Amino acid sequence: MSLRVLVTGGAGFLGSHLCERLLKQGKEVLCVDNFFTGRRSNIANLLDNKRFELLRHDVTFPLYVEVDQIFNLACPASPIHYQNDPVQTTKTSVLGAINMLGLAKRIGAKIFQASTSEVYGDPTLHPQTENYWGNVNPIGVRACYDEGKRCAETLFFDYQRAHGLDIKVARIFNTYGPLMCPNDGRVVSNFIVQALREEPLTIYGDGTQTRAFCYVDDMIDGFVRLMASNKDFVGPVNLGNPVQFTVLELAEEIVTLTRSKSNINFMPLPIDDPKHRQPDIELAKHRLSWDPQTKLRDGLKKTIDYFDKVIGA
Ligand code: NAD
Ligand code: UDP
Repeated sequence: MSLRVLVTGGAGFLGSHLCERLLKQGKEVLCVDNFFTGRRSNIANLLDNKRFELLRHDVTFPLYVEVDQIFNLACPASPIHYQNDPVQTTKTSVLGAINMLGLAKRIGAKIFQASTSEVYGDPTLHPQTENYWGNVNPIGVRACYDEGKRCAETLFFDYQRAHGLDIKVARIFNTYGPLMCPNDGRVVSNFIVQALREEPLTIYGDGTQTRAFCYVDDMIDGFVRLMASNKDFVGPVNLGNPVQFTVLELAEEIVTLTRSKSNINFMPLPIDDPKHRQPDIELAKHRLSWDPQTKLRDGLKKTIDYFDKVIGA
């Protein structure tokens, strides 16, 4: 019998790629989503697969299903979306974690948490290692996400200590690729859509802030390796591409690749926007033999092709 895997947030950007990868591996996939930021179109090509099942459900409510593994991804990831209803964002992270951990405990399932580089806040250490405790503003506009995810990590480790749960915690850094929503609001999708429409690229601040961008296929590979790792390895482990770029460099690269005539519109920097973010991935390299392979230019080309089709359609 094939392994039954629950993916919460399975209709979102990362979730839909993960569902597809798990189906390719021969697993049975139960995709759970409330469609807050996820879209049916992301999983439309999976609906005919007999090993795929879709359930509309909000993870802030208990869920009673029988599976062998759980990937807990449900939570909006883009600042504009998670700040749109901040209380619901905290509920999704915290109550969602409690409900999924409770489910894992009852059925003895292994459970993976999609945590985030945001647990490091506006970091004072570069690059960020997993033992860095972070610099988060607990009452700022990003706190609903950052503190929600930090609390979820706490819950995962308390369930492990108290109940011996088989947990895996990944701290995901900025990831991009096909199936991102055109109005997702994150920097890569915004810039590509703006460049393709010949609209000005909106750089927040002066564009000197840095991020390290991981292509989605590499990230999903990291998820799968972490879930399959030895029981003694629980994380938290950084997953991300360690090559850093300024936001201005990203804008210039996208303008070049799209051959766009767009110029740049500098806008105010959002509150608490981290100045630098770059993962130290030595732990993932060592424990998971994982090292992202896709160069920014190659990943951007594939993402541009995707957006060219969807916004042109
Ligand atoms: P996304 O917004 O595309 O996907 C999130 C999915 O969760 C959506 O399908 C949404 O409808 C669903 N969802 C939200 N609230 C829900 C709820 N209460 N119940 C059920 N479903 C709910 O975001 P993504 O980029 O695919 O991110 C997936 C996960 O990875 C998130 O937990 C996010 O915090 C984490 N993450 C992503 C990144 C990134 O760069 N993409 C970086 C760090 C962490
Ligand atoms: N950003 C930008 N223009 C945009 C969207 C984002 O300059 O249209 C900046 C944002 O202020 C941040 C960086 O790009 O400094 C990455 O933003 P994103 O929302 O993608 O993710 P974050 O890493 O902040 O969670």
